[in-house]
Amino acid sequence: MATLEVHRVPVLHDNYVWLAHEPSANATAAVDPAVAGPVMEALAAKGWTLTHILNTHHHNDHTGGNLELKAETGCTIVGSRTDRDRIPGIDVEVGDGDTYDLGDARAQVFDVSGHTLGHIAYWFADSDTLFCGDTMFAMGCGRVIEGEFGQMLGSLEKLKALPGATKIYCAHEYTQKNGQFALTVEPENPDLIARMRDVDAKRARNIATVPSTLAEEWKTNPFLRPDSRHLQETIGLAGASLVEVFAETRKRKDAF
Ligand code: ZN
Ligand code: FE
Repeated sequence: MATLEVHRVPVLHDNYVWLAHEPSANATAAVDPAVAGPVMEALAAKGWTLTHILNTHHHNDHTGGNLELKAETGCTIVGSRTDRDRIPGIDVEVGDGDTYDLGDARAQVFDVSGHTLGHIAYWFADSDTLFCGDTMFAMGCGRVIEGEFGQMLGSLEKLKALPGATKIYCAHEYTQKNGQFALTVEPENPDLIARMRDVDAKRARNIATVPSTLAEEWKTNPFLRPDSRHLQETIGLAGASLVEVFAETRKRKDAF
């Protein structure tokens, strides 16, 4: 199977659109194109032709460029079967356990509902690449809007089980604010303290902090760590169930 080249396109205030290029078949996907213009410019600069859009969920900051890009390029739009009526221009419907081939690069599709119902993630195992939209962020996770806390925790547990080398291509540069929150629930986590030093230095120079690796998230993302005794004790839920700990952590982040 072929290896992807991934290119970052920063758009809007803090969104990232990812261009995933598979050179042997000359296929290129835009993952969650919030807008069309900057994506077309980035494609031209790279000399790539858009063949696909991969959507993770229906929110407009992930699909707003769909129809214009499809009109300009004739690309194929892939999205969640559950979201068939909410993904503009959808051509191919996929769901949990499906695979989808971008040229010679194969994605496994996971349902990771919680932020929305029908939110999916695309895992290109041979490229150690995960496009997870608004489900997992660097040191954070998406707000639980349409789903339940238990469902969101289950979705994050699916992603947590992937190899540590997996690169986490999430859709927003929320890392610094997420890390500031993470420090309120795990103030003595040495990996978190060290990571935030690095993130603060990068953001001071406007350098992107995405992608991270899953191994970094295991050690520092509070939403992957409801089993952390330190976190449980900080929020007053030592020994509580993982879903109780996760829900309380997520509620505190909503109010942060
Ligand atoms: Zn969203
Ligand atoms: Fe978003």
